[in-house]
Amino acid sequence: MPHPIVRFAPSPTGHIHIGNARTALLNFLYAKKHRGEFILRFDDTDLERSREEYAQAIEVDLAWLGVAPNAIFRQSERIALYHAAAEALRAAGRLYPCYETAEELERKRKRQQARGQPPVYDRAALELSAADRARLEAEGRKPHWRFKLEHKTVRWNDLVRGESHIDSASLSDPVLLREDGSYLYTLPSVVDDLDRRVNLIIRGEDHVTNTAVQIQLFEALIAHRGGAGAVPNFAHHNLLSSASGEGLSKRTGALSIGSLREQGLESLAVAAAAVLIGSAVALHPVASLDELAAALDLGQISRTQTRFDPAELANLSARTLHGLSFEAVRDRLAAHDIAGYKAGAFWLAVRGNLASFLDVVDWWRVVDGEIQPVAEDAEFLEQARNVLPEEPWDEKSWAAWTKVLKDQTGRKGRALFHPLRLALTGQETGPELAVLLPLIGKVKASARLSGRVA
Ligand code: GLU
Repeated sequence: MPHPIVRFAPSPTGHIHIGNARTALLNFLYAKKHRGEFILRFDDTDLERSREEYAQAIEVDLAWLGVAPNAIFRQSERIALYHAAAEALRAAGRLYPCYETAEELERKRKRQQARGQPPVYDRAALELSAADRARLEAEGRKPHWRFKLEHKTVRWNDLVRGESHIDSASLSDPVLLREDGSYLYTLPSVVDDLDRRVNLIIRGEDHVTNTAVQIQLFEALIAHRGGAGAVPNFAHHNLLSSASGEGLSKRTGALSIGSLREQGLESLAVAAAAVLIGSAVALHPVASLDELAAALDLGQISRTQTRFDPAELANLSARTLHGLSFEAVRDRLAAHDIAGYKAGAFWLAVRGNLASFLDVVDWWRVVDGEIQPVAEDAEFLEQARNVLPEEPWDEKSWAAWTKVLKDQTGRKGRALFHPLRLALTGQETGPELAVLLPLIGKVKASARLSGRVA
C-alpha cells in the first residue's frame, strides 16, 4: 500500500469526547506508524451549528493529546469545489431536484411502514416533468437535491470488519444539498477525500451505511475526472459508550477531552485508553505515542460497542505517570518552577507516589520549600537531630542515620521511622525517605526535627 493519507473530520459543533479522540488517534497513529499523512478537516458546512470557537477548542484538545496534523482545513473555504462536483453530477443525471416537504416525506414513510415496506424514498421526484417543476417553483418551493444511487451491491474490504457489503437498493437516494443551497456532509466529504488523495478512511461504525453511498459517489466523481483518483479503503471502528452504556455526544460534554484534562489526567493515559479499550490489546500504560502507535492494529479492534469506565482511566493515568522519564516531564516540571540540579532526582523520587501530576507541587515544597513539620515526640526528634550524619548525603545516608538512632534509642519499625517521616515531610505517607533525605538536605532536616518551619 502507498503511504497512508488519513484524515480526522470533526464537525465543530461541540467539544470532542473520548470517542472522537479514539477516531482522531486511530488515524493519527496509523499515519505515524506507516509514515503517512494526517489531515485535520473541519466539516463545517452546517453554518447553523458550526462554531469557530469549537474548531479552536478541538485543535487545543488534539494538541494536548499529542495529535499533530500535517494539514488543517475547513470545508467552508472550499464551497466552489463542491459546486463544481454537484454540477458534474447534475450533468451526469445523478443529482436530481426533489420538492417534497418534510411533512410529505413523513407521510410517505408512515404509509410504507403501514404496508410493511422499508422506509426508502420512492423517487417520485424523478417522474416530475419540466412543467411540474416550474409549477412547484412558481408556488415558491425550493428543491433539495438527491444523489441517484445505482441499485447494486457495494462491497469493500473493511480493515476492521472484514469483507463488507450493502445492497444500495435498500437505501434512500441521499440528499446532498438542502433547500437553502447548503451541503450536507456527504458530498463535501467525498470531494475533499478525492482532492486530498485520502486513501484510508478510519471512522466510527455509525458511518458504515454511509460507505455504500460514498463509494458510489467516489465512483461517479472519478468517472467524471476521466478515471483519475481511487476509492479509499475503509476501517470502521466500534464505538465507545459511557460507563452506564449511553452513547457519547459532543452536545452533552460528558467525557469531553477538556474535562479529562481539567481532572488532571495524563494525556498519554487518555490516549492509550481511547485507542486500546475495546480492542484485543490489553489496556496498559505507555511511555510515548510512538509506543502506542506500535501497539496499534486495526484488525484487533473488537466489533462490539465498548463501555468506557472513567475509574479505569484514573488508575491508568497514575500508572502512566509512574513510568515517565525525567526528560518526558522536564518542561512540565519547569512550568511549576521545578528545575535545577535537584529536579531530575526529585522526579525519580516522587513519581511512584503521584496520583496526579500536580501532586509534584506539594512534594517539591517538601524538598525545596518550607513546610510545617509535625513534631509528635520532640525528645526523640532532638536525639535524631543530634546524630544526623555529615553531608554530602546519598541514598545510604538514611540507613546509616537510622541505624545509629535505633542502636541509641532501642526503637525500631514504625516507632523509629514514622515520627521522622512526619517531622521531615509533614506527611503520613510518601516516597521513600532514603531518596527524599538527600534532597531535603541537612539544613532543612535539622530545622524540621527541631519543629521549626523550614
Ligand atoms: N464529520 C463527520 C463526523 O464527524 C465525518 C465522518 C467521516 O469521517 O467521514 O461524523
